[in-house]
Amino acid sequence: MLQLLAIGLLAYVIYRFWKGLKHNPLGDNTSSQAYSANTPRSIDSVKCAHCGVHMPVDEAVSSPRGDNKLYCTPEHAEKGPRFRRK
Ligand SMILES: [Zn+2]
Repeated sequence: MLQLLAIGLLAYVIYRFWKGLKHNPLGDNTSSQAYSANTPRSIDSVKCAHCGVHMPVDEAVSSPRGDNKLYCTPEHAEKGPRFRRK
């Protein structure tokens, strides 16, 4: 009986230690949000039409000329596609 208690206590300590390592100790609500924020997820990435840098599609700058191309910065959107100039 004492062995069962010791095993249970040990399992509880290991469980608490493991949970403390994995989660933010601020609370269950924030820790679950932090966990989902840290989880890698697929983000649609697009290529800058000027310099070729890949970036998330929600950070891309669309062209002021309305040519349906996306750029990494407003400066590159002003310059336009690199291959058109050469
Ligand atoms: Zn660029």
